[in-house]
Amino acid sequence: MAGVLVAGGSHAAVAAVMALRTAGYPGPIRLISAEDLPPYHRPPLSKEAITAERPSSTTPLRPASYYTSHEIELTLGRTVCAIDRVGKSVELSDRTRLPYDQLILALGARARELPASVCDPDTVPTLRTHRDYLTFMDRLATAQSLIVIGAGLIGLEIAAGAVRRGIATTVIDTADRVMIRTALSPVSDHVKRHHERSGLSFRLNTQIHSVSRKDGSYKVSLASGEMLCADVVLAAIGSRPEDHLAHRAGLSTGDGVLASATGQTDDPAIFALGDCAAWFDPALGRHVRREAIQPAQDQARVVASMIVGLPQPTPAVPRAWSHQSALRIQMAGEPSAAARSIHHPRPDGGLIALGLSGDQIVAAQAVNVPNVFNALADLVGQPEAAAEAVLSSAEPRVPA
Ligand SMILES: Cc1cc2nc3c(=O)[nH]c(=O)nc-3n(C[C@H](O)[C@H](O)[C@H](O)COP(=O)(O)OP(=O)(O)OC[C@H]3O[C@@H](n4cnc5c(N)ncnc54)[C@H](O)[C@@H]3O)c2cc1C
Repeated sequence: MAGVLVAGGSHAAVAAVMALRTAGYPGPIRLISAEDLPPYHRPPLSKEAITAERPSSTTPLRPASYYTSHEIELTLGRTVCAIDRVGKSVELSDRTRLPYDQLILALGARARELPASVCDPDTVPTLRTHRDYLTFMDRLATAQSLIVIGAGLIGLEIAAGAVRRGIATTVIDTADRVMIRTALSPVSDHVKRHHERSGLSFRLNTQIHSVSRKDGSYKVSLASGEMLCADVVLAAIGSRPEDHLAHRAGLSTGDGVLASATGQTDDPAIFALGDCAAWFDPALGRHVRREAIQPAQDQARVVASMIVGLPQPTPAVPRAWSHQSALRIQMAGEPSAAARSIHHPRPDGGLIALGLSGDQIVAAQAVNVPNVFNALADLVGQPEAAAEAVLSSAEPRVPA
């Protein structure tokens, strides 16, 4: 028995090996990761690790003892370079060939870089791995000013952390509101107002003409004619899926490796999950690449049950979160499917927002309302009327 080979070494890969053992998979499991470090948590890199006095080390996803006690062979610092689908084996960067019965692609994504028309390659750093984090923190250590290009979740987390460090920070985005891909408009507005009150500056609806670096400082020229200067610039403009290995092996790719609603690629022996994969979503009628940890963990349970031959778990509503200084943002469902939204600002400064398509709730989001979020998330897929009971129970209690 060749067993299962998992290509990748982060949240999705570890979720896959854990789900396989939990589902009772009895055979060999191998995890091959291109990174030298044992799999670690990515979320802190853009959150608490930015405000840390000294650069933080990684927080492992699982202690080393987990892999040995569950008979999972961990190979670090080696890349899966090619897939031989006929021979059911992969080739690693050191030319080793490893066989598989099932192959799970958990290759993740790379940070998207600014286009060559805007700046020379490597002028503006990005943040995806712990190594990127160390480079960025080194630059931030002596910086008095920062420009973050991209007002998505990661860009805002880093910008909020920099403001806390006392660094004058500006966020630039081509979109006309922050977190446009992930947040409902009332949440975007609420979050932006909070950050502005904390001292963060924004240039939204703004195209960048060029970015240059000279004598250790940056000049960012905007299409409006404005010129901004800063000690450090960071691009946080999304990610590109690692799907070229699958593409070279003849598997279908789009924005990621295309997979069925159970993670199967064109090849019945190959599954894909996490940030590298776009799973077919029957409710939306299209493939969707989810770039968050909870969906990767949910997908891992589905793939493990497919491999082991167990009944499929109930499909989970996708969830994500973001911590931006004092803001705890929680999201469930599919905001891009919402045609309109309703929102409830709370006297304690929190916010609840629901996204609707027709009278169906398709997304639920909360800012600093953690105690009702699970009930809110359960509303996804229900009619608008179902929200009444949850919203009234979510009202903060006025002290007697
Ligand atoms: C700074 C930051 C903060 C984030 N914060 C949050 C958050 O708060 N909440 C949330 O839900 N999500 C967050 N995310 C997103 C979340 O981290 C990703 O959704 C998650 O990491 C996806 O896991 P993955 O394993 O699919 O991909 P990745 O984390 O990208 O990992 C892929 C792994 O595969 C390895 N690899 C790639 N190609 C090969 C190959 N050919 N051979 C072997 N190994 C290979 C890579 O080196 C890497 O280790 C954050 C992401 C970042 C970068």
